[in-house]
Amino acid sequence: MSAIALYAKPSPDFAEKLVHSLALLKTAAADYSPLTQASSLGAEDMVVTHLMHEAGLFDTAGVSIFVLDTGMLHAETVALIGRIEERYPVKVDVYRPDLETANAFVQANGSEAMYKSLALRKQCCHIRKMAPLARALAGKKGWLTGLRREQSAARAEVHDIEQQPERAKVNPLVEWTQGDIWHCISINAIPYNPLHDQFFPSIGCAPCTRAVTLGEDFRSGRWWWENESAKECGLHVAADGTHEAQEPAAFEPLSSIIPIREIQA
Ligand code: SF4
Repeated sequence: MSAIALYAKPSPDFAEKLVHSLALLKTAAADYSPLTQASSLGAEDMVVTHLMHEAGLFDTAGVSIFVLDTGMLHAETVALIGRIEERYPVKVDVYRPDLETANAFVQANGSEAMYKSLALRKQCCHIRKMAPLARALAGKKGWLTGLRREQSAARAEVHDIEQQPERAKVNPLVEWTQGDIWHCISINAIPYNPLHDQFFPSIGCAPCTRAVTLGEDFRSGRWWWENESAKECGLHVAADGTHEAQEPAAFEPLSSIIPIREIQA
């Protein structure tokens, strides 16, 4: 059964939420330029990309989208980059981990290091996500996410705008339900990852994502071997582990900021 058939069910106040999200995006583009969307290519982020288009943000200078290609994503996930560029007037910037560092980690710890300990899993996330994220966010005044309060206990306190030391984190979907997300995808034919139709509600790297069964929590398919409190990769975890407001430290020198498109050119 498709994710749309399973989940699409708008809240009674969906129309108001939509108006609020579009207004927030316009405010963010005006107040926090250069503004970028950190897209995981999940359902929420596909909706944010669509709303950016609806709000006219792709006609606004200083607005961009980036994806962190960890080298461990499903092919279906990577394929969404091209589908975004076909559907919307935007080029997606792709950031990847430093190859030497990633290879050295695998040689030292094995290709399944993430299952061996929490420390190794976090080290892998640091190399493949956090360091590229720091490069992607360098110089930006604001970043957009698809965080929703409903997603997990750790995300229950997320606000529309969170002022971080170097930039604002803007979350236009905080009040949206899963039903709202899939309703929006359905009525606008927004492209989405076909893995969502195979009971993958939350999709990350292939080794760290599994399908869930009926009744399981939205994020139970992510790092399923860890306890609940550890289940974030670091992108949205605060220093006290209870709130999502911290931005990444700059782990690499700014000289290494090279969008993959430029490397491939
Ligand atoms: S989610 Fe898994 S594979 Fe991806 S960076 Fe983190 S530990 Fe590594």
